[in-house]
Amino acid sequence: MKGICYNCFQNLLQQNYQCPYCGFPMQSYQSSLRALVPETVRGDRYLVGRTLGEGGFGITYLALDRNTQTRVAIKEYFPGALVTRDVSVYGGNTLHTLSQGSHKDFQAGLKRYVEEASILSKFQDLPGIDAA
Ligand SMILES: [Zn+2]
Repeated sequence: MKGICYNCFQNLLQQNYQCPYCGFPMQSYQSSLRALVPETVRGDRYLVGRTLGEGGFGITYLALDRNTQTRVAIKEYFPGALVTRDVSVYGGNTLHTLSQGSHKDFQAGLKRYVEEASILSKFQDLPGIDAA
């Protein structure tokens, strides 16, 4: 299957081999069922690659900024106690809250998360930081 490398974002003729450009083992990479599906585009700008890490409140991805053609890390608000995503069950990238009450907590947490990102964006002139 044609596609891209989830690590260096080069075009590949096939995705079931080790990437010839960066050596990333595409043939054995499995993203978590909680994570965004690789090659998803977020904000009409960021092409999602491999997952870098998962914590209690977020999932971090390697992504390609299609505007600047640079690799960036993007973080998704994903409080594991409140929401779930299972692409094998639900299909697609939609988050599902685990209970009626958790929807409210999720919205409140998301508001704080966006506020924090807004504060961080004031530092976006520093190298390596892009809060878009
Ligand atoms: Zn690669």
